[in-house]
Amino acid sequence: MPENNAAPDDLALDTTLPPRAGASPAQPDFDLDGDTLREECGVFGIFGHPAAAAITALGLHALQHRGQEAAGIVAFDGARFHSERRMGLVGDHFSSAATIERLPGSAAVGHVRYSTTGETILRNVQPLFAELESGGLAVAHNGNFTNGLTLRRELIREGAICQSTSDTEVVLLLTARSRRGRIMDRFTDALSQIEGAYALVALTNKKLIGARDPLGIRPLVLGELDGCPILCSETCALDIIGARFVRDIENGEVIVVDAAGVRSLKPFPHQPMRPCIFEYVYFARPDSIVHGRSVYETRKAMGAELAKESPADADVVVPVPDSGVPAALGYAAACGVPFELGIIRNHYVGRTFIQPTQAIRELGVRLKHNANRAVVAGKRVVLIDDSIVRGTTSVKIVQMMREAGAREVHMRISSPPITHPDFYGIDTPERDKLLAARMDLEGMRRFMGADSLAFLSIDGIYRAMGYAGRDPRRPQFTDHCFTGDYPTRLTDQHGDPDRRQMSLLAEAS
Ligand code: AMP
Repeated sequence: MPENNAAPDDLALDTTLPPRAGASPAQPDFDLDGDTLREECGVFGIFGHPAAAAITALGLHALQHRGQEAAGIVAFDGARFHSERRMGLVGDHFSSAATIERLPGSAAVGHVRYSTTGETILRNVQPLFAELESGGLAVAHNGNFTNGLTLRRELIREGAICQSTSDTEVVLLLTARSRRGRIMDRFTDALSQIEGAYALVALTNKKLIGARDPLGIRPLVLGELDGCPILCSETCALDIIGARFVRDIENGEVIVVDAAGVRSLKPFPHQPMRPCIFEYVYFARPDSIVHGRSVYETRKAMGAELAKESPADADVVVPVPDSGVPAALGYAAACGVPFELGIIRNHYVGRTFIQPTQAIRELGVRLKHNANRAVVAGKRVVLIDDSIVRGTTSVKIVQMMREAGAREVHMRISSPPITHPDFYGIDTPERDKLLAARMDLEGMRRFMGADSLAFLSIDGIYRAMGYAGRDPRRPQFTDHCFTGDYPTRLTDQHGDPDRRQMSLLAEAS
């Protein structure tokens, strides 16, 4: 890596405690700088374009909603890799010509990061880079490995040296240590050991690589600009640069882009697809098309279903901006009540969730939203939000409506109650912090001080996506946040069932 990385990356020196020898893989027992290793992120990669880094910066800008804490780009100029990784927003660091000039080359990968609780440290900022036997490898990852801690602990025990506390590093370490020959074989050998969710882009000195986990939990699409292939999390990152959408990367598919063109590999045993339903509820940008489905239209349909299931006698439908807007439009149209902007959002404050502590998070909510008194005073208001996680937003917003003179406040949520944490790269906290896991419907209503409260049902969310009841064509989305039906093993949480079995057999013999 050239010297220009040295300054920012050096700032990241901090003290990670090593794992205790013999610790159970089921219970992570070491402090990872307060970083839970879970990340919500956006990824982008382009191959063969003279303005690779500038285009990657624009792509990351369009993916900013997927992660606002840090951003990074690694570019390859035919001889050397160049890396710029920064804390903060893409626009703060990657809009200057000087930064882009430090990233020469016609191939680049980039990443926006949105860590969960705990501080983000610079050495976790992606793309992560390592020099392997075969040359450099940069990896940018969206998702979360559900056996990442277990693999990491094993690797450290075997002598691997970790530079970060990010689970993404496991990909680099496993690729480096693979006994296979060619880089693609080593890379897929590494991925075959990983459980959980990943949408990855990686860069070698000859190839841009994209990979999606066998269930396709997180999204990844293939696009094209001036004949140059692009891999990115969402189609909105193609739109910003005028690139053409080619297709979704399939579950379990590995895409290799090099001088010979684009190749598709299917190195893993086939499994049915289980994309995450929460991308449609909250995470993806409304102007993106995910698996052929407009996120905006889907959210509107969720609002319309909610209106059918849980109408409210009201004068105005008010969205919790911005994420509640499409569902509120759908709700208002379906029940014939006027849609009004009864809450105004200050767009210059980051997302509520990026603040690490509850106190700051609460402060963030107040900074972010204000009641539009002219719309709500004296009215019966239906508030629409896309989801309730901890309940922080709802409590504040209901109170805000009352203070602005609303006569009644009815809360409607355009997704089912989130009762289970996510382990696949979306920041939902431990179960005991999820409002719907702690309280029943009436308890939640009282907690937030609303006159009534209703959530969209599970069947309702599938109806909104065009699948009625037990329609056998209904694709198996993963809806674990609402049902607890996790699509993979949760090895870091529960231990490795195969190993447990083996040790039971050993004990028995
Ligand atoms: P809470 O205030 O904890 O109940 O969170 C709910 C609010 O956060 C809603 O307005 C959602 O739009 C938004 N939200 C839902 N899921 C997430 C997430 N994973 N990260 C950030 N914000 C979220």
